[in-house]
Amino acid sequence: MTVKKLITVPDEILRKNSQPIEKISNNEKKLIKDLVETMYHHKGIGLAAIQVGIPKRIIVLDVNQKDEIKNPLCFINPVIKNVSKEKSKYEEGCLSIPNTFIEIERPKTCLVEYINIEGKKKSMECDDLLSTCIQHEINHLDGKLIIDFLSKLKKDLIIKKLSKTRQSTDRIVV
Ligand code: ZN
Repeated sequence: MTVKKLITVPDEILRKNSQPIEKISNNEKKLIKDLVETMYHHKGIGLAAIQVGIPKRIIVLDVNQKDEIKNPLCFINPVIKNVSKEKSKYEEGCLSIPNTFIEIERPKTCLVEYINIEGKKKSMECDDLLSTCIQHEINHLDGKLIIDFLSKLKKDLIIKKLSKTRQSTDRIVV
């Protein structure tokens, strides 16, 4: 397993639309392992392949990151099928946008259809933190970032600041 280099704002790769996976080959399996390793290394609770520069619709998550048991989830070609009207709010950070936290309101629960690592079609009802996290990661697959929830002025300020100071952080929420 390899810790991959993270792509950060304002790299335009992050704006790419990721492509669906047609066949899960050894390449994809290795990529998934590397994504999990990279996510844990940077203390994130979710990571999309595009964040290491690979535009494929693969995301990994682990919202219960206690030290003892690691239980990473992997979603291939995830699609949100249903969302609740009820919302929940979190202060979201992003491994691709260092030192930036933005309060975002998203549907509290959602139903996600995806393919697992064995190539089987699955669905999962996600709530609270998992719901927020999976929506955040699926946004990445569509080239959307948390700063897009802000006004253009605020967004430009953040990008300007990050262009000058590119540093890593471990204060990560999502
Ligand atoms: Zn992110």
